[in-house]
Amino acid sequence: MSLETQIKLKADELGIDKCGIVRAEALLDYAGRLRERMGRIPNGEAIYGHFMRFADIKGQFPWAKSVIVAVLSYGHYALPKNTDGHYGKSYLTDSRFNPDSPERKKITAFESFLKGLGLKTESSVHPGITAMRWAAHKAGIGIIRRNNFFYTEKGSWVNIVAWAADAEMEMTGDAHLPPCPDNCDRCVGACPTKSLSAPYTMNMATCVSRLSTSNDPIDYDEETSRRTGQWIYGCDACQDVCPMNKGKWTFGDDFPGLADMSERLSPEKIISMSYDEIGSILMPKFFYIKKESLWRWKLNAINVLANARAEGWVAHVERALDDGHEIVRKKAARALTKAGL
Ligand code: SF4
Ligand code: SF4
Repeated sequence: MSLETQIKLKADELGIDKCGIVRAEALLDYAGRLRERMGRIPNGEAIYGHFMRFADIKGQFPWAKSVIVAVLSYGHYALPKNTDGHYGKSYLTDSRFNPDSPERKKITAFESFLKGLGLKTESSVHPGITAMRWAAHKAGIGIIRRNNFFYTEKGSWVNIVAWAADAEMEMTGDAHLPPCPDNCDRCVGACPTKSLSAPYTMNMATCVSRLSTSNDPIDYDEETSRRTGQWIYGCDACQDVCPMNKGKWTFGDDFPGLADMSERLSPEKIISMSYDEIGSILMPKFFYIKKESLWRWKLNAINVLANARAEGWVAHVERALDDGHEIVRKKAARALTKAGL
């Protein structure tokens, strides 16, 4: 039995949704796509230039001859109601550094299997070893849509994992997904900050997913803060609105630990939590905001409350006037002043 067949059978046995393999050289054309993308947005080279290393897998791993790609759906989890429209769903169900998650267990077992085959492999949980969506697209196991997300039959609610491997292999899937409808631009229209300004054109520097998880010691201007709306950590607007995702989230299973922490995810609760609590409860799961920047959680919570102005919001924001971080105190004061308080 060929290596490719053994790998595919194991992936199926483990319940990995999709598996494909591309030759290392087949990923080189990512460089051209990235150049196009950089050319479409201001300051593109500075924002995306560092991704250029992903095109040449041999530059990182000279022994690599192919890249194995696995895709796992995360769209089958129950989600706490109070996270809807406030948290990116991929972060709520993030399996990357969660050894208890079913997806991580599958990936660990798959990795052991690959090594058992005698393959030399290398992977990286974060940020990955290559342009994951491009590799999965080239492996024929799904397509990249106009909102830049990778889709399988289960929509865009999927994680991609890739391994550089030292064997010449190729296994191309036969994804038969309909293209985006001719006139559809719903994802572009839904983007709150206009970060997704046109099909396949996204400015990472203004994406809410980036802004809400940034460790840069800055608050954002009034317009950006307003546009960020109700998002606390991440943003799913350009995926939620997509007709190709309609009905694809199935809400069946419990994600380990998520229900238990749900009460701590409301903006009111975040403002009342100590930084020690945020560090021990939120940081391990939502790891983009680092220990030295935990004040970002409070900025985001204040922003959400000030944008919504629901009953009782003032009392919660006032609590932040005594925060230990000046940037938080200023944010709270600015929100209250803006409301004429
Ligand atoms: S994640 Fe949100 S902010 Fe980022 S491109 Fe999509 S809709 Fe725009
Ligand atoms: S919203 Fe429309 S254009 Fe955007 S990715 Fe979905 S189908 Fe494609």
